[in-house]
Amino acid sequence: MGSLISSKKQDSLQECLICEQERDNGIHLLNYFICKNCESDIVQSETKDQGYNLYVHRLRKVKNALMPTGQNKAN
Ligand SMILES: [Zn+2]
Repeated sequence: MGSLISSKKQDSLQECLICEQERDNGIHLLNYFICKNCESDIVQSETKDQGYNLYVHRLRKVKNALMPTGQNKAN
């Protein structure tokens, strides 16, 4: 009969699209979730940054979701 004191856990942990860690703090982009850390990383990243490429690569998933299918034409 121990006291079951547990701070209310948020059961809304979601896997971040970028770092693939489970977080409860972040933004939603359609069906995707981006944690606060990665969001600010992206915002602060410059296009010349190497890390930016990773984000862009990951975010491509989101982009694809945003774009109507069949609209992707290779140059
Ligand atoms: Zn993240």
